[in-house]
Amino acid sequence: MSDTSATAFFWHERCFWHDQGAIGVFSSPGTFLQPQPASESPESKRRLKNLLEVSGLIDELDVIKPPPASREDLARFHTDAYLDALEAGNAGLGGEAGEAAPYRPGSLDAARQSAGLALAAVEAVATGHSRNAYALCRPPGHHAEADRGRGFCLLGNIPVAVMRARALGQVGRVAILDWDVHHGNGQQAAFWDDPDVLTVSIHQAGNYPLDSGEFEEQGGPGARRSCLNLPLPPGCGIGAYRHAMQRLVLPAIEAFKPELIVVACGFDACAKDPLGKMLLNSGAFAEMTRSLMALAERVCAGRLVLVHEGGYSEGYVPLCGHATLATLAGSAIAIDDPQNDEIAAWAYQDLQPHQRELVDDWHRRWFDACDATDRTGHH
Ligand code: ZN
Repeated sequence: MSDTSATAFFWHERCFWHDQGAIGVFSSPGTFLQPQPASESPESKRRLKNLLEVSGLIDELDVIKPPPASREDLARFHTDAYLDALEAGNAGLGGEAGEAAPYRPGSLDAARQSAGLALAAVEAVATGHSRNAYALCRPPGHHAEADRGRGFCLLGNIPVAVMRARALGQVGRVAILDWDVHHGNGQQAAFWDDPDVLTVSIHQAGNYPLDSGEFEEQGGPGARRSCLNLPLPPGCGIGAYRHAMQRLVLPAIEAFKPELIVVACGFDACAKDPLGKMLLNSGAFAEMTRSLMALAERVCAGRLVLVHEGGYSEGYVPLCGHATLATLAGSAIAIDDPQNDEIAAWAYQDLQPHQRELVDDWHRRWFDACDATDRTGHH
């Protein structure tokens, strides 16, 4: 079944059993809001998995259900005190893992399974077992920090996976691209002082978290320019994302010369998302995937892992995810997505002058700084 020509797909039903409770009951935006289902629910992920079944795409994938992450694997990133607290809450009544990360009894089992998907996906690709891979993780991980959960995330799926692969000598230099509409603060914090891991985040400026994700944040003293943030203004569409990718994201990753590329793959920059204000369609996610695959072929023998993060449109995440996975697998299966053309025809999808100005300015500052560093003989 498994061979390096196939795209591996990692999922587990247990990931869908995590329950954050209702907003207004467990986490409160105010006394007068009628309780409503939490934004992060299994539905968008489960519907993506079901669509893969119905379209037949799943039959072209190497489907793998790995074990949950071990305590030892989690402890490479997370503090013992945090893991102890999660274990106590998981066995008791649940609780709040930090900030906007409520959990219930059993949630840690889902989170450990979620991290297990990511680490197995990274291992499969890093060791050459699979050509590329997609991990349908839930709960998401890119906001989780070493000592607390944040923003619906309990465990840092990608940091746990990358730290494990590096500890086991499966891979050296890794580039992580986060295209979730929210800032990838978890990866940034995890690898802030690590010059061998480049973290890139392209996100809506000042959405979540409010206090991180600025361009000026570029890594710790021993790891300057190992962190690249593109905080885009709300309203960016297909043209803006294409320009940001071609002009800065892809060249920055290529210059870094990674041995593996990992994507924090949120679909909440899509036009239908309730928690983001960007304008992408399913075709845009397919295009970003295609451009990364081409880059991965050039720099790291095609080694590319996509790890599912946010995305809260129950109707549109499945279509964006299917387009992404079909691209990753080189499948001919295409499904009818009428919203793709409708969204593409919206006004302001083309690159706007203020968007170009921002990206071009970041490009100049990023590569001028790199040139200056090269001339002084450092890094
Ligand atoms: Zn998000």
